[in-house]
Amino acid sequence: MRTITIKPLLDYYLWAPLALAGPDLVPEKDILLEIKNSFIVSQRVVQQDYLPASVLNHPRFYALEERTTLLPALIDAHVHLALDGKDFNRSRVMWDDRVSLEGRIRQELKEMISSGIGAVRDGGDCRGINLEARHLVESEQCPGPRIVATGQAIRAQGGYGSFLGLDYHNRAAIPVMVERIWASGADQLKVVVSGVVSFIEYGSVKGPLMQLDELRYIVSCARERNLKVMAHASSAAAVDLAVDADVDSIEHGYFARPESLKLMAEKQIAWVPTIIPVAVQAREPLLDLRTPLEIDVISKTYEEQIEKLNFALELGVPLGVGTDSGAGGVSHAHNLIEELMLYKAASLTNRQVLKAATSTNAGILGFNKEIGILDRGYRAALIAVQGNPLEDLEALKDVVVYLNPGS
Ligand SMILES: [Zn+2]
Repeated sequence: MRTITIKPLLDYYLWAPLALAGPDLVPEKDILLEIKNSFIVSQRVVQQDYLPASVLNHPRFYALEERTTLLPALIDAHVHLALDGKDFNRSRVMWDDRVSLEGRIRQELKEMISSGIGAVRDGGDCRGINLEARHLVESEQCPGPRIVATGQAIRAQGGYGSFLGLDYHNRAAIPVMVERIWASGADQLKVVVSGVVSFIEYGSVKGPLMQLDELRYIVSCARERNLKVMAHASSAAAVDLAVDADVDSIEHGYFARPESLKLMAEKQIAWVPTIIPVAVQAREPLLDLRTPLEIDVISKTYEEQIEKLNFALELGVPLGVGTDSGAGGVSHAHNLIEELMLYKAASLTNRQVLKAATSTNAGILGFNKEIGILDRGYRAALIAVQGNPLEDLEALKDVVVYLNPGS
């Protein structure tokens, strides 16, 4: 795979035999892009044989190979860079070994590039390691996708997720916490409204729920600081709470009721269903650790989630894509395509799946009208893959060019 680092202040020409252009990813042949200051400034149809000499002789002209397709880089709207996706305890021990930790994260970021991932949103960790990862990329110490960081999460009193962030003991502590998270440099605020789905008892979610008035208070404090609120909500009740409190995105959202999805469409609250972290529990190698009852519960849980995707889209819920990579069994980078294949299993069209992973996810990350679409005025965060993903999504497994426009 070839990485083209787009340097600000320089101009580039890129010719593609096929490009998925505009918000609807319309296939267009023989596209010539002109890129200035990292942004696409013009896009026109020119057959390769008719490219002008001024373009052909330009020092930064790139022509993509036949049978490749140019499209917006993929986006993963839910990762945890602080965790390795293999061994939770080992990941945590590594937090105190800064050299190994940074080495691992550098490697994950590299693999994200190889997988065509142009941006990720990190769902937080109690040490704020995601902020350090963002710094690595922004200070150009390490190539990687653009990172939207949440720093430390806020969780319900005595609730799930001590590795994600801190809880509060009274209402008065809430504005202080939000202020501190904002001051740490977080781009969004992560709130842990509920526990996680049980793999033993179908439909059960462990741990106490956040109180509605507290969640509303957190959201209003976040708004004052211009922070979007990313809410981990894994039960029907948790989804209702999060919708009621007007969060910006609902993460996981297992067991969400149809009425809640309707409200999400009305309020334009995004949904990041994270199916793969549950699905991998019933796949090799974790499968061998499970009892038949657990496999049944796990399968029922994620299959129910898959069934709701189409319904949510039809209602108009902004449907994003996130892998929860770093969580048990979900390694970084490679699982985004696995998540997309699960969307495919929900009989979404390839175009719908691609839109979720590009333009809708860009909106969830707060990069609306900036990345996620191949068009004039957008940043050149693009990839080329072998084949055409509109015809076969598996084409996304073969990324041949990655344009890295920095941030
Ligand atoms: Zn998460």
